[in-house]
Amino acid sequence: MRIIVQKFGGTSLATLELRKRVCDIIAATKKDDIGVVVVVSAMGRTGDVYATDTFINMVKEINPSPSPRELDLIMACGEIISGVLLASQLSFRGIKARFFTGQQAGIVTDSNHGNAHILYVNPKNIINCLKEGIVPVVAGFQGVDEKGEITTLGRGGSDTTAAALGVALNAEVIDIFTDVEGVMTADPRIVKDAKLLNVVTYNEICQLAREGAKVIHPRAVEIAMQKSIPLRVRSTFSDHTGTLVANVMTGTLDTVKLISDNLITGVTYTSNISQFKIDISTVQDKKGYELKIFKSLALAGISVDFINIQPEVILFTVGMENTRKAIEVLENIGIHPEVELDCAKVAVVGAAMTGIPGVMAKVVEALSENDIPILQSGDSYTNIWCLVKREHMETAVKALHDKFELGK
Ligand code: ADP
Ligand code: MG
Repeated sequence: MRIIVQKFGGTSLATLELRKRVCDIIAATKKDDIGVVVVVSAMGRTGDVYATDTFINMVKEINPSPSPRELDLIMACGEIISGVLLASQLSFRGIKARFFTGQQAGIVTDSNHGNAHILYVNPKNIINCLKEGIVPVVAGFQGVDEKGEITTLGRGGSDTTAAALGVALNAEVIDIFTDVEGVMTADPRIVKDAKLLNVVTYNEICQLAREGAKVIHPRAVEIAMQKSIPLRVRSTFSDHTGTLVANVMTGTLDTVKLISDNLITGVTYTSNISQFKIDISTVQDKKGYELKIFKSLALAGISVDFINIQPEVILFTVGMENTRKAIEVLENIGIHPEVELDCAKVAVVGAAMTGIPGVMAKVVEALSENDIPILQSGDSYTNIWCLVKREHMETAVKALHDKFELGK
């Protein structure tokens, strides 16, 4: 039997009306010889009554640091609610459907509560369900560890569930249905003329996703890539074919068209970053000093990024949520950092940009034309990024998008 996995994001499931559209899509895909496996997120977005954040807040109002085990149990509720509702709605319409929790769907993870990794998938219940001609509706974002404890997979975890099931079931394609037409050259909420990318490679989408384009989770791409299962990112609300993520496109007759990376794929951003600056110009034992800083932060469980050590200064960033703790840790060892709160990272991403001269010059030009100070910058062979103040983030993204003419 041919199998197609279809994952629906929170905004696609938010109301009865919207779920009608989702039911239509599933009904149109399911055929006698095509089984559809549905994966759902929790309904709505932050602030909505059955959204994951609402559940987290419910517990945190009572206890600001609940146990990770309990937190995972309540976080897993959102997908159970949306999945049961969707399966019931499908069945009521005459499309037989059956709901499965992550555990029932055989999603087995490590025990890292809140950000668990899938170890393996045992899809026997899903396969049996498909054999009966019934549509399995699976709760995304959740699994079970080998001790039987419920775990969750972190932000974007439903994408990961869909990819893991797609691989386990050898699906023909994994459809990621969301609220935009597909993967675009920038977040269309910020850049009005962002262009839809019709076809991208796994490599390109991985880079974009890692740099912050939240339209698909990078882990999901990495999983789908293992068996080269094509991913299609598309809108629940239109019939557009969306973005195909694959390495080859089968052409006509016996030709196979290869897909190559773009020079520049897109512009991304991430916010909620604090930059730390420590003056070491007068420090004698620099090596010992550096070690003390990074060891203390590591011991406190604070992850640091964008580390840049120069003879006069040490620069690094931490997530906003860790800023206070990081300052405390450093002050405890007698170090008084200069902290730039509320920064954002903007990045120009392009898997084929390596070795092309002038990319950095254009980045600097775009930001300086808009009087945006660059607080720090860095690059790899697939991206160039700059740290800017949060208040400049949107302008920076638009300016970079314009400078590289990505809307054309
Ligand atoms: P879902 O709930 O369906 O998983 P997400 O909010 O996780 O949806 O992802 C979709 C959102 O990703 C879009 O609404 C869009 O604002 C954002 N986004 C960020 N970067 C991009 C990009 N390059 N292309 C498309 N969407 C993007
Ligand atoms: Mg998402």
